Amino acid sequence: MYFSEFTASRRTFLGMAAGSLALVAGTGSTPVQAAKTRTSAKIVILGAGAGGMAIANRLVDRLEGAEITLVDGRQEHWYQPGFTLIAAGLKPASYSVSRNEQWLPRPVRYINEYAAELDPETQRVTTTGGTRLDYDYLIVATGLILDWDAIGGFSLDLVGQNGLGAVYAGPEYAAKTWRALDEFATRGGRAVFMRPTTEMKCAGAPLKYSFLTDDHLRRKGTRDASEVVYTTNSQALFGVPIVTEKLELIMRRQDINVVRHHVLKAIDAGARKATFDTPDGEVTLDYDFTNVVPPQRAPQVIRDSGLSWADRWTDQGWIEVEMDTLRHKRYPNVFGIGDINGVPKGKTAASVKWHLPVVEDHLVSELAGGEGTRTYNGYTSCPLITRVGRAMLIEFDYHDNLVPSFPGVVAPLEELWISWLMKEVALKATYNAMLRGRA
Ligand SMILES: Cc1cc2nc3c(=O)[nH]c(=O)nc-3n(C[C@H](O)[C@H](O)[C@H](O)COP(=O)(O)OP(=O)(O)OC[C@H]3O[C@@H](n4cnc5c(N)ncnc54)[C@H](O)[C@@H]3O)c2cc1C
Repeated sequence: MYFSEFTASRRTFLGMAAGSLALVAGTGSTPVQAAKTRTSAKIVILGAGAGGMAIANRLVDRLEGAEITLVDGRQEHWYQPGFTLIAAGLKPASYSVSRNEQWLPRPVRYINEYAAELDPETQRVTTTGGTRLDYDYLIVATGLILDWDAIGGFSLDLVGQNGLGAVYAGPEYAAKTWRALDEFATRGGRAVFMRPTTEMKCAGAPLKYSFLTDDHLRRKGTRDASEVVYTTNSQALFGVPIVTEKLELIMRRQDINVVRHHVLKAIDAGARKATFDTPDGEVTLDYDFTNVVPPQRAPQVIRDSGLSWADRWTDQGWIEVEMDTLRHKRYPNVFGIGDINGVPKGKTAASVKWHLPVVEDHLVSELAGGEGTRTYNGYTSCPLITRVGRAMLIEFDYHDNLVPSFPGVVAPLEELWISWLMKEVALKATYNAMLRGRA
């Protein structure tokens, strides 16, 4: 069936395959092929993930003489949009893993340690190994931390046994989660899913994984013997009202029970029980399979640095940047890229792609004696898989407007094979192009 759909719409597909670059790459973000700006500025970038690695490559293309230092204690680069596919048994763990050196631009100094201290007053970073780095400009791209300790009784050692999954934890844990899902699906039972009450990266991922579980149970013939429960932290299934409406329909169609105002508090992994805080007190649900998604926060070094908002997200610590320029409100020589930014939307790799040209423009323009003009509109994108072979390409901005990259071609709220292909096939290539600074 999929093949005939493919041939019927091959022209569309070819257009889309090219266009899918816009999913992460988008239009208007290709680095400007201008003469390089000469500078002796010291630029420190914290984090070599999606945002940090890409901005390092872009700045090397734009600047001559800058001293650029990239700091990250992890040597592996993780392509995180692949985690859901790994946890659905569609890709091996290695699909999401590469080495930072592979993407590193040569003139950049790479320090394979974490930032341990950061003082924006003295403009200095100290690494876990004690290296002191003075900077003129700082780009914070540390991403976020997964606060597993906030879930009582949970330990990463337990993942993969007793129906316990943790897709977010990394490629190996995503693979262990797949093994637990597959084992669960041979008999069926109750699967319980959730999202935290904090801001989170790719808020669609827990939903996707619920749908993929539902799909796997159907394929294994055990859906009738099963119950799928999605617990949400608030009333709404998603932060964008029109998307929530569509999700409510899908939940009903797929016979997934939605339980509202539940926030995971603790797990009893041996007994397979999950305890939630609710407005009516604690509620414990039995499960046979679950995917734990913990609260998400800024790394402690950032929270201790004084860069976080003082009156918003105080339990989470996102940095206080301007919504449009991503420049720090109190320290104008500091910018944020990616999940660490304290803005109302934008914790996806696709958002990173739109952060990059903005930060690059403001930083390089200033070094050239001018002023940047580019702005970020909150663009966030989530290919919301509803089963293997179908996804909705949801794209929206700060104001909850849907901002489809292909209006009239890909309907954002339709479950399409082409949107699935973008996630399953095209997204990784475009992500890799972004890392190289080429998208
Ligand atoms: C399960 C899952 C599915 C997802 N699916 C999608 C999707 O379909 N589409 C999409 O667009 N996005 C998706 N995302 C989100 C996307 O992966 C992130 O939004 C994106 O990686 C954010 O980039 P970043 O640079 O901010 O952070 P990251 O890519 O996480 O990189 C942060 C880097 O900072 C480093 N770091 C941390 N602390 C320090 C420190 N103290 N000093 C120095 N370095 C530090 C880390 O080691 C890491 O290398 C998904 C994420 C997950 C987990």
